[in-house]
Amino acid sequence: MKKILVAFGTRPEIIKLTPVMHELKSSDFDVITLHTGQHNQLAEEMLQLFRIEPNYDLKSMGTTSDLFELTEFLLPKIKQLLYTVKPDSVIVQGDTTSAFLCALAAFYLKIPVYHVEAGLRSFDIYNPFPEEVNRKQISGIASAHFAPTSQAKQNLLNEGVDPSVIFETGNTVIDALYKIKELKQYANSVPEILREIPEEEKLILVTAHRRENHGEPLEQIMSALVEILDQHEQLLILFPAHPSPAVQEIVHLEDYKHPRLKVIQPLSYLSFHHVLDRCDVILTDSGGIQEEAAALGKTLLVLREKTERQELIESGFTKLLGSDKKLIVKETLKVLASGISRQKFNPYGNGDASKKIVHLIKNQL
Ligand code: UDP
Repeated sequence: MKKILVAFGTRPEIIKLTPVMHELKSSDFDVITLHTGQHNQLAEEMLQLFRIEPNYDLKSMGTTSDLFELTEFLLPKIKQLLYTVKPDSVIVQGDTTSAFLCALAAFYLKIPVYHVEAGLRSFDIYNPFPEEVNRKQISGIASAHFAPTSQAKQNLLNEGVDPSVIFETGNTVIDALYKIKELKQYANSVPEILREIPEEEKLILVTAHRRENHGEPLEQIMSALVEILDQHEQLLILFPAHPSPAVQEIVHLEDYKHPRLKVIQPLSYLSFHHVLDRCDVILTDSGGIQEEAAALGKTLLVLREKTERQELIESGFTKLLGSDKKLIVKETLKVLASGISRQKFNPYGNGDASKKIVHLIKNQL
């Protein structure tokens, strides 16, 4: 039985790797889970929902968000763990610093690394920071690259990655999205706040938490939300705010108080998906939510200056607004006025990405 170590630490990593772990287990792999533990509050809820008890938990939460200290803390621990577990291979997802450090440690020990959601590029090393460099470094190490889209595959080909180890699979976030709707508890997880919104009221869902938006950009975004509400009646804005102090210290400021701007705690994954289904427009800087919006055919506007999901821009599905207050107000009012057409553009697959990935690992790698 092949021993495969799957590493995760953040909410999106858990969401995107759970379907892969399920497939691995039903394909007779010995799956060892490593929780790098940096976003515990959000990650914990995911682990409970998916009934995952990590075999190892490095508990880096609270240690630091300083990248030097995080590296210093995690790298020796991952080294020790790899010596103990001796996996045949390691799976990492996406672009966190912990995913990069797991890949680096595995490389130092000559353990093959498989990269889920490979090939995303913004072509700006400082945006998103440090994720763009993290994922490029993982691409330099990985023995197999599971690209979610043809664009991601092309990015890897352009960088000279061996074509025989790049596989276009779709994005496992779509697998997760379909799977949760089959869960028994899904129907019972409609958040209270949704029940209170009259049917005729439009709903905008907002999330913004990335480092690039901390400080002044987030202030601009909040101020834009208030302006949108001032200019549009029968509209509610729901903002489940990330627990990061850099987000919390701005979103609750007196200047941004408005009776129809509801800044709430992050929603559970199941509740969040009820809101995704109900909302009319999504404003976000999140990567995963952009993918979910595409799969659900929701009107999407992106609160980023740069993107690694270029296909969503090129297809005309969405626009990059950054944190430009005027632009956010203008474009949001425009989509609200246009009656909010349901566009369809989903380059992320139909929910079988994890099946494809595990089939490849089992039969080809
Ligand atoms: N999400 C959630 N509750 C929330 C906000 C987001 O469960 O209140 C989920 C969402 O469905 C998506 C993921 O979290 O799958 C996105 O995570 P995040 O925005 O933190 O990270 P990113 O995708 O930008 O890396």
